[in-house]
Parts: sequence; structure tokens; C-alpha cells
Amino acid sequence: MSENNIFQKLYNLICKDTGDRNESSKLIVVVRMLTLTMIVYSLINGVLFLLIDHTGGMIFCQLAIIVFLVIFILSYRQHTFVSYCVLNIAMLVWLTANVYMFGWGIGVQTYIFVLIVFCFFARYRHETAKILYVLALLALRMHLYFHCQNYSPDLTVSAEINAAFQTVNSVSIFWSLALLSYYFSTDTQALEGKLIEYNEQLRRQASIDPLTGLNNRRSTMEYLEKLLKNAVDQISICLCDIDFFKKVNDTYGHNIGDVVLQKIAETFRKDLLPYNCFVSRWGGEEFLLIFPQANGDEAKIALDALRRTINGIVFDGGIAQFSISMTFGLVEYDFHSDITTLLKEADEKLYLGKENGRDQIVF
Ligand code: GH3
Ligand code: MG
Ligand code: MG
Repeated sequence: MSENNIFQKLYNLICKDTGDRNESSKLIVVVRMLTLTMIVYSLINGVLFLLIDHTGGMIFCQLAIIVFLVIFILSYRQHTFVSYCVLNIAMLVWLTANVYMFGWGIGVQTYIFVLIVFCFFARYRHETAKILYVLALLALRMHLYFHCQNYSPDLTVSAEINAAFQTVNSVSIFWSLALLSYYFSTDTQALEGKLIEYNEQLRRQASIDPLTGLNNRRSTMEYLEKLLKNAVDQISICLCDIDFFKKVNDTYGHNIGDVVLQKIAETFRKDLLPYNCFVSRWGGEEFLLIFPQANGDEAKIALDALRRTINGIVFDGGIAQFSISMTFGLVEYDFHSDITTLLKEADEKLYLGKENGRDQIVF
């Protein structure tokens, strides 16, 4: 239980956010994990140097541990970029010194590949600097190779100790690469997820009326075009408008007018649900209702019930309570008219209803 607690605390400590919204939270975790890896790595190497009684190597490892500890602490002071850069430099010095000490055969130079991945993992937009850094890493690798060709290593150790250093190096390099790749892939997946979500949000915003949450004119036109193109069932379209809405605004205020629009939208959505009706705010206090599977007579029955429900809603206007009515112009799709003709026909019927005293359905 307490062991679990220690691991949990260590995990929380490593994952602690930078507090800087512009910094990737993953990068700082990777910086810390790599720093801790280097600390453990230096510790084990220190022990190996102790075994072969090499004072210089031990001092080098102690210094390395101090430097990596400082980088670890630095990562909590909101210095992601600084700790990232210092870690790179420290790792470069570490691998160069190791190759000088042990020669090419120990395999530390492979750490250069870890640094390349690390460089591209960081999402800093210094593309030129990254390319120059990779070229510098290549130059360093070539330099180390030719150095090892021309000079023998500073240290000659027994085959067993050599194997031990080789093992520690290999494990450390594999672990670091796996760590970077793991965080790199999860970071990319998370970003992709965010992008999909953002696109969906944009799509919703572009197709929905913010006041009522109904489809707006743009998405309605898209829907209608598709629906009429592939029409198999009978389709009915109804344009409707709130009667004397200007008076509602003038008497009770614009805010109350907005409440009325929202309530009407909610009523449409709820009452027309069984008809699979596409409800949209066509503009102002005008709505377009599309029945994709109902002929005119069926739609008229639904609208009649709806008209009565709307008449029965009592609104609180502050100074007084009030109710409203709506007029509806209904048309049935004849399988060959175009959208403009259909909408014009519905609008003419709506106008006729207004002329004839409002609060009615004209079909
Ligand atoms: P009619 O019965 O002939 O339709 O009369 P009306 O008063 O409803 O029609 P008119 O076109 O004269 O007025 C429509 C009003 O709708 C005017 C406008 O201020 C109001 N309106 C349009 N959009 C909104 C809105 O989003 N919120 C509010 N509160 N009012 C709106
Ligand atoms: Mg009106
Ligand atoms: Mg109107």
C-alpha cells in the first residue's frame, strides 16, 4: 500500500504540469523521464567505475548526477525550453566523454539517435535550428568514429566489465527510444482527437442557430437539396411565422421576444419528434419545417395540433402574461418542382394566412 503510494507520488511528480499553457505537457514529462533515466544510468556506471577502482570515472558520474538533478529541478521552475536544451547538451557531453573513455565498441554513440528523435519530439517551431542540430549530430558521430579509428580508448577494461557497460548502455538507449516513441505517438493521437473535436464544433457552429439551437438556413438548404434529389417518400414543407411578433418585442422587450423564440423552438422539436421533422429557424421569427415522410394531409394534422399547443403556452412578460399565435403555409412536394418554387409557394400560402386573419394553416 505504502509502496503504491510512493510510486503514485513519483508518477504525479513526473507528470506535474508546467503551468504554462503554451507548453506541451507531454514534453516536460519526457524531459523528466529522460533526466531520471540519465541519473539512474550515471549511478549504475558510477558503481561499475567503483568496481574497477577508477576515480576519474566516478567523479565524472557524480558530476553527471548533479547536472541531471539540476535539470530535473529546473523542469519545475517553468523552464521547459531551458531544461530541454540543457538536457540535450548534458547528454551530448555524456556520450562524447563515454566514447573517448571506452571507444566505439561500447555503443554509447547510438544515443545520438535518441537525441534526433528527442529534437523532433519537441514541438518548438525552430525548423532551421533542428536541421542544423541534426547535421551537428552527424558531424559529431563522424568525429567520434574517426577519433576512435586514430586513438585507442583512455580506458581498457576486462571483458566482463565491458559487457556490463555495454548492457547498461543498450538498456538505457532502448528504454529512452521506447519512451520517446510512446509519448510521441500518444501526443499525436491526442492532438488528432482534439482536431476532430474542434472540426466537429466548427461544423456545428456553422449549421446551428445560436439562439434557438435549431438548424440554420444554410444547413436547411443543404438538407433540402439532398432530400429532394433522392426523394422516394412524400415530402411536405411548411413555412411558419409568429403573428404580431413586433408587438411582443415592443410591449415586453427584446429579451422576452428571445424567450418566446426559444420556447417555440423547443415546442417544435418536442412535438414534431414523431414525424422525424427537420426543424429550422429560417430567419427572424420565421421557421421552416420539413416533413421527410409525410404527405400534406398528414403534415396538416401534426401542424394543427402544434398550432393549438402554441396558442396554449402562457408567457411571462413581466408586466403581464401573454400568449401568441402562428400562421403556417404548407406545401406538398410534387417530385419535380425545384426548391425555389416550393419555398415561394409556401411563402405565398403563409402570406395568404396572414391576410385571412392569421393563426391558421393554409394548405
Ligand atoms: P406578422 O404577424 O405580419 O408576422 O407581424 P410581425 O410583427 O410578426 O412581423 P414583422 O416582420 O413586422 O416583425 C418581425 C419582428 O421580429 C421584428 C424583429 O425585431 C423581430 N425579430 C426578428 N428576429 C428577432 C430575434 O432574434 N429576437 C427578437 N426578440 N426579435 C426578433
Ligand atoms: Mg411575424
Ligand atoms: Mg416575419
